[in-house]
Parts: sequence; C-alpha cells; structure tokens
Amino acid sequence: MTRIKIAHLYPKLLNIYGDGGNILALKKRCEWRGIEFELDEINIGDKIKEHDIYFIGGGQDLQQIEVSKELQKHKDFLIQERDRMAVFLGICGGYQLMGHYYQPHNGEKLLGISLLDAHTIAGEKRFIGNVTVKTDLTEDGTLVGFENHSGLTYLSGSTEPLGTIVTGNGNNGADKTEGARFKNVFGTYLHGSFLPKNPKFADYLLELALGFKPEPLNDNIENLAHESLINKLY
Ligand code: GLN
Repeated sequence: MTRIKIAHLYPKLLNIYGDGGNILALKKRCEWRGIEFELDEINIGDKIKEHDIYFIGGGQDLQQIEVSKELQKHKDFLIQERDRMAVFLGICGGYQLMGHYYQPHNGEKLLGISLLDAHTIAGEKRFIGNVTVKTDLTEDGTLVGFENHSGLTYLSGSTEPLGTIVTGNGNNGADKTEGARFKNVFGTYLHGSFLPKNPKFADYLLELALGFKPEPLNDNIENLAHESLINKLY
C-alpha cells in the first residue's frame, strides 16, 4: 500500500488560526484514496527523521522565539531534506522561520533555517483579512485564505512567490507577491486553514510527495468554500 509520512513541526507552539486543519486535509485526502497516512508530531527536544512532507504552522512572536532556537539544531538536516526534494509547507510564522530570519518589533532577530531565500521584518501595520491570489500552480489559478501578520517578507534569488495578490496584502503589502517556493518548499501567509479551501493545491503537494498524480476526488464542497472566498473583501 502507498504510504505518506508527514512531520508536523512544533504543533504545541506554532498552530494558530486553525493551521492544524492543513494536516487534517492531507490526512483525509490520503485516506479517501486508500493511501496510508503516517503522522509524526515533532516537539521541542524531539529528533527529526526523514519524512515525505514537513508542515509548520503559524504563531505569535513569543512562540517563534522558542521554535527558532530549536530549528537551528535541525537546520543542516532540513536543508538536506529540501535538497532531496522533500515537500515542506510553512504557514505565516512557520513560513517566516523557513527564511533566513524574522526581525520582530522588539528584541533579537530570530534565525530561520534558510530553506527559502527570504527574510522578514516586522512592519508597523498588522495585515488582517481575506486574501485572493492568482497562481500558476493550480488548474483553477487561484489560492484563497485569511491573513493575520505584521511581518513583511521579501524574496530573493531563485525563491519565487506562489502568486500575485488580487485582494489582500500577502508577503509585504507592497510588491503584490504572496508566499514563496523554492524546490518543493512552499510558504504562505494564508491561514484559514489553507489546504481545505485550496484542494487543488493540497493535491499538488501530495503529487510532489507521491511522485504521481493522485486520482481526483469529489471536491464539490471544497470548491464551494474556495469560490465563496474569492475576492471576499471582509
Ligand atoms: N508573529 C508573526 C507576525 O505577526 C507571525 C504571525 C502568524 O503566524 N499569524 O508576522
């Protein structure tokens, strides 16, 4: 039986605005297809072994400080995992720590693990609201979600955005980019949670992890949720 192994990184610290729903979406989309789904929750002090997909959710600055320190112990291993094309998905605070650093309003710069060529600096304004993104990564060409962050993320080098902002702010509210991708590492500011409302992107991640396109599912309900959020301005 086909099996997918997923590591949920630091769920006790980085898991706000329903980000754990991304794991549930991947779990159900595997089970509905008869694909075995193995989940490891990785907490502070745990070792990390090879997985097909790594997920890290969002969180407040305080929790990011603790996770930033812990992630440094695993930086070389996770870069090796990136380079063997394992799939990563980071949401908001987790996304920020997949870059080089996050500079909060007060205190020390939080080191990231440089899976992405990106850096984040806390801005004066908190971006809160629904977001619609135009993307080339899915057949329907849109990603939707909810943002709540003050961090401003800037991409460099070969790290590309997930897409272009149609409504909302995205990476920094200025360059019209949202999210990031390098190899099979993906980051986004979209909470909501993200994958249940973006089933085509969820299946894209599964395809990258499986090495083949998974059979289509009846996504009527998921697509209704997706479409109901397109260009929702409040
Ligand atoms: N603390 C970070 C910020 O405010 C991330 C917040 C989050 O994960 N929603 O930008």
